[in-house]
Amino acid sequence: MNSIRIGHGYDVHAFTEGNGFVLGGVEINCDKAVLAHSDGDVLIHALCDALLGALCRGDIGQLFPDSDAANEGRDSREFLRAVKGLADQDGMRLGNADITVILQAPKIGSRLQAMKQVLARELDCPLEAINIKATTTEKLGFIGREEGIAVEAVVVMECVA
Ligand code: MG
Repeated sequence: MNSIRIGHGYDVHAFTEGNGFVLGGVEINCDKAVLAHSDGDVLIHALCDALLGALCRGDIGQLFPDSDAANEGRDSREFLRAVKGLADQDGMRLGNADITVILQAPKIGSRLQAMKQVLARELDCPLEAINIKATTTEKLGFIGREEGIAVEAVVVMECVA
């Protein structure tokens, strides 16, 4: 594999009424929940797809199909651990990740550092390797109407050797 590889991931989930949701492995307390087969951690899903893209290993839906009952309600950190295992097998490690969360509400700025800590622990990388930012769509479209949340992730992976 090349010494440096780039990957991109994108995921969207719909909101429903509820008592909060998980994002980047962190509980977000609010009056919304995320519709999903797994725990619906859209940030980790996008990050997994970015990592899998860099590894040329398809996508998270191929690895963990939502038709499989074993993935129902599943903690998405388990997906990330599995993807990290594939990277280890391939002799690749995260160089850096840049992640953008796109949602209108709630405000999550105070939770970003906790998310970075979760991801750095799962990926066994320094905190400085992970950047997470949040933006709105200025009330435009489905995100602006607070009907859903999207995340984009870009990663660079490096050959360990
Ligand atoms: Mg997803």
